[in-house]
Amino acid sequence: MSASEKKEAFNPVPEVQPLIGRTLFNETHEAFRETARRFFEREVAPNHSRYEEQGHVDRDLWNKAGEAGLLLTAIPEEYGGLGGDRIVSAVIMEEQARVGASAVGFSLHSDIVAPYIFNFGTEEQKQNYLPRMASGELVGAIAMTEPGTGSDLQGIKTRAEDKGDHWLLNGSKIFITNGYLCDIVIVAAKTGNSGQGSADTSLFIVEAGLDGFTKGTPLKKIGMKGQDTCELFFSDVKLPKDAILGAPGTGFGMLMKELAWERLLIAILAQGAAEFAFEHTLDYAKNRQAFGRPIASFQVQRHKLAQLASEVSLGRVYTDECLRAEVEGRLSPAGAASAKCWVSEMCSRVIDQCVQIHGGYGFMWEYPVARAFVDNRVHQIYGGTNDIMRELIARSL
Ligand SMILES: Cc1cc2nc3c(=O)[nH]c(=O)nc-3n(C[C@H](O)[C@H](O)[C@H](O)COP(=O)(O)OP(=O)(O)OC[C@H]3O[C@@H](n4cnc5c(N)ncnc54)[C@H](O)[C@@H]3O)c2cc1C
Repeated sequence: MSASEKKEAFNPVPEVQPLIGRTLFNETHEAFRETARRFFEREVAPNHSRYEEQGHVDRDLWNKAGEAGLLLTAIPEEYGGLGGDRIVSAVIMEEQARVGASAVGFSLHSDIVAPYIFNFGTEEQKQNYLPRMASGELVGAIAMTEPGTGSDLQGIKTRAEDKGDHWLLNGSKIFITNGYLCDIVIVAAKTGNSGQGSADTSLFIVEAGLDGFTKGTPLKKIGMKGQDTCELFFSDVKLPKDAILGAPGTGFGMLMKELAWERLLIAILAQGAAEFAFEHTLDYAKNRQAFGRPIASFQVQRHKLAQLASEVSLGRVYTDECLRAEVEGRLSPAGAASAKCWVSEMCSRVIDQCVQIHGGYGFMWEYPVARAFVDNRVHQIYGGTNDIMRELIARSL
């Protein structure tokens, strides 16, 4: 059977039951899962290859997601959100992972960018931006990383000068998720001169379309090819005085506040990806014949599958417990860092073996595990690299 005959990309396979049952979800979460599942199966999966070719999702996918109630679910209803908990956010991420939809940047928009505005914005900023982000009219991004610095955020060079009646922003950012389609971006910039990066950093809400704000084309990545990730350039961009989020010099503190959740979010996506790859692989191994029998019947492969099932289940239990801790307000930075670190590495380990079990087909782009292999490597890199995560965990010991 040729690779194209066996095309199976983005067709979810029957779900494999985890080795240990999950207890996180109530009826509301499960009902919401149905909505999210329908959306990803109908609106995203059939178009995903095209997104990969064009380097970004269609702009109107954001409006459709807004109409379906999938954006800003954890933001209160008075600002256009659903008023749900972070388990609802996790359900959306799981359903995205279930179809291998790596092109979609909803979680960054809803669960990272919007909370900055909700937690630190003025009432005017909240009213101005959140309802439009919830409807998909505005796409959000956050820009910290620069060509010269990523892990060492205190070393950023982008600067906003206080010019009395406005701020003047200069600098550039790289690797910005949702960057190409974004309508607003939270930009980290230096505003002070104390020499202490943490005290000199502020955050600004910058609207696309302002004079001097330009975007690069989507960057060519080895994976997540459909997710728009690009460079942003700021050349003498005049920002209104009220574009600042919180007080000058408090940006670093704001960036730190939600880091545990942002790291858990990556663990949730990586866990979903590991399950996605494992499910496809189990299905494949049961159906692929060699020497007159399914490859899953060879003891070597059976034991490998058992090992993968165990690894995936361990990740699931730890991720779920971290999510429970997050909802109950007791997730520690080190706990979140270890979830991000361990689950992202487990994800890569598992997918590597899933590719192996697929043989040559595992190396073919139209196979979900091939895409998963390259799509998910980045979980070890962004959101703070895993080396930095280990540093954080070590500090807590
Ligand atoms: C697909 C993608 C999407 C992204 N989206 C965003 C986004 O939306 N917004 C945003 O701001 N950024 C984004 N990033 C950037 C990402 O967060 C950074 O790439 C990451 O933080 C690492 O920074 P760097 O690339 O500059 O690597 P560096 O900081 O240069 O690190 C290089 C290597 O050195 C190691 N290293 C650095 N410091 C230490 C240390 N103290 N101890 C031990 N080892 C160390 C690192 O672990 C790494 O292995 C994205 C990146 C990618 C690839």
